[in-house]
Amino acid sequence: MRTIAFGYSTQCNIKCEHCVAADAIPQNVKMELVQAKELIADLAAAQVRGISFTAGEPLIFLDDIAELVGLCHDSGMYTRVVTNSFWAKTPERADGCITKLKGKGLSQLRLSYSRWHQKNIDRQNIVNAARSCQKNGLDYFVSFVTDFSELDDTFEGYLREEGLKFFPEPVIFAGRAHAFERMPLHTDYQANCCPMNPYLAPTLDMYACCDAGSHFTGTHFFHLGNVKDRSVAELLKKSESNSLYNHIRNLGISAIASFAGFSARDIVQYRKCELCEKLFNAPELLERLEQEAATGLKSWYR
Ligand code: SF4
Ligand code: SF4
Repeated sequence: MRTIAFGYSTQCNIKCEHCVAADAIPQNVKMELVQAKELIADLAAAQVRGISFTAGEPLIFLDDIAELVGLCHDSGMYTRVVTNSFWAKTPERADGCITKLKGKGLSQLRLSYSRWHQKNIDRQNIVNAARSCQKNGLDYFVSFVTDFSELDDTFEGYLREEGLKFFPEPVIFAGRAHAFERMPLHTDYQANCCPMNPYLAPTLDMYACCDAGSHFTGTHFFHLGNVKDRSVAELLKKSESNSLYNHIRNLGISAIASFAGFSARDIVQYRKCELCEKLFNAPELLERLEQEAATGLKSWYR
């Protein structure tokens, strides 16, 4: 099923220290509403069946996002909005926003939460937003961003005490988090297959990856093109037919690194996106992997 992360604007009302959206794409860029509507129609025609509104803080533009959600709903698309819940200061204000989005057919709300977000947003906002979703029958979950430090224990405990549905999500060490200290990892050898949701930025550039991929400025490996030059359908097709991308999806980044000569002991010391950057943001190694995509890598499956 085709899905996409849709960046209406990079503008945000807070400035989290760990923000992955910072730096790669200029801040305070916003699409024109009329352009966004045309793009939604193009995405629907290209059989995109799920849209996640993300980038900066989408609900700064609540009226616009509600209208876009409504268009998606009319086209039968599943919609999600990712938000920092700044608008949920009181239960009443939370209800105002939720009923509006729910009325337009929103499928799910994803509430961002972390010790960095909560320096700017009272954690009670997250509870107000979640309770309003429960009350109004809107699916939600809390995205608990963590670097697995002990500092996060009380933040996780709070979500449990409040009985909220949450999923831990690792910090991506890109954007502002690039300079963060890394805790040593204690995990097994992972395949690190990546589904690679494409990302349409407010600059109208499309990337094959919606997380750290837009930061690979050494090679621009994940940059698919700009919808001013090529249609969204063409760019989606490009993403789906690239054999190296498909190896990331199916073979996994660890196996690609092993193929490229990384030792197993080295591989387990990287986080997924960092290993990905090591492989695909270095021009010489990327060139070799692109040459091997249809040959050596193709036979590197178990
Ligand atoms: S992480 Fe989200 S809420 Fe925080 S600055 Fe970035 S876009 Fe805004
Ligand atoms: S591992 Fe690579 S493709 Fe997957 S999210 Fe990270 S940067 Fe993107």
